[in-house]
Amino acid sequence: MGVRMRLTRAKTKSRRSHHALSEPRLSKCVDCGEPVLRHRACESCGKYRGRAVIDVALKAEKKEKREKKKRAEAGAGQKERGDAPKAEEKEVQTAPEVEQKAGPISVEEMARRG
Ligand SMILES: [Zn+2]
Repeated sequence: MGVRMRLTRAKTKSRRSHHALSEPRLSKCVDCGEPVLRHRACESCGKYRGRAVIDVALKAEKKEKREKKKRAEAGAGQKERGDAPKAEEKEVQTAPEVEQKAGPISVEEMARRG
């Protein structure tokens, strides 16, 4: 295989000049005025062109359930993790004491040593 010429910075940059992302085109919901993606149902009121498509209340309930589950799992996890940070805090709290103790001890030791 032939040796490929290395890409110049200009070549790389000119290639990437087309990589920029464009902002999503938002339009206002007809019913609630919230910004909505075009050709999508409104997420806040669940309507598409004035017609109810999504049961928002049901979705909210499901979301709450999911979040509760997550919280429960997170709480269970936090109990496990909660000990670790506390231990770390204790370590942090004890560390200065150790240092304070270490200081006088070292001084005493220095005095003992002469
Ligand atoms: Zn809406």
